[in-house]
Amino acid sequence: MVCYSGSISVKTSGKDDIHDITDLVRSQVSESGIKNGLACVFVVGSTAAVTTVEFEPGLVKDLQEAMERLYPKGIEYEHHLRWGDGNGHSHVRASMIGCSLTIPVKDGDLILGTWQQIVLMELDTRARSRDVIVQITG
Ligand code: ZN
Repeated sequence: MVCYSGSISVKTSGKDDIHDITDLVRSQVSESGIKNGLACVFVVGSTAAVTTVEFEPGLVKDLQEAMERLYPKGIEYEHHLRWGDGNGHSHVRASMIGCSLTIPVKDGDLILGTWQQIVLMELDTRARSRDVIVQITG
């Protein structure tokens, strides 16, 4: 068993931005030299998330709007009362979507659908520099 550990740094705007990081994760798989195994993609922090989506502008907007309908910004959160940082919705959204993905690696590449991209969702209210850890075992 071999374990490779790498990381990707992404600068975000804090305006509900969603970044396609598929190619960056693919590069890590190539760099690892691992042909068959599992890739774990994990974002460090409690106000960002990783998931997959068909990365096209319509669906990116749909996802952003769904977040607003499900976990609106303009309501009261206990977190605001305790910390005053105004990002209760960011934490709730991040917990609901999740901070990691496990993707099978076969023949040196990620197994993903043609219309399935790996995305980093910035859910915080300000620009951040995000570290996404990619660990591959095989
Ligand atoms: Zn907070």
